[in-house]
Amino acid sequence: MDLIRLPAWRRKYIKTMKIKKGDQVIVTLGRDRGQKGKVTEVDTKNNTVVVPGVNMYKKHEKKRDEKHPGGFVDYARPLSMGKIALICPKCGKPTRAGYLVVKGSKERICRKCEQKI
Ligand SMILES: [Zn+2]
Repeated sequence: MDLIRLPAWRRKYIKTMKIKKGDQVIVTLGRDRGQKGKVTEVDTKNNTVVVPGVNMYKKHEKKRDEKHPGGFVDYARPLSMGKIALICPKCGKPTRAGYLVVKGSKERICRKCEQKI
């Protein structure tokens, strides 16, 4: 799915996905559907996340030095945020996060169990 080519309303919707670095997520669509992992990178510009072990591809690399011997390297390609769901650490279910303003500060909450996450 090419996010850039999506209509504006759809992009806006995806932008409201509240996923942060370190979150546990589950893949809901695509080749790796059902796989879980921890987010290590978030790209808000492209609405993608990187989850190690998910969406793995092999890349051919040239030999650079001793540390980079080249050959086929496994790497995780960025996943669209539309293809993942956040897993609530409190109830363990795939959920959507919401925001609540508590005493002037924003708290992220799980929409299923309504606990702070
Ligand atoms: Zn929850």
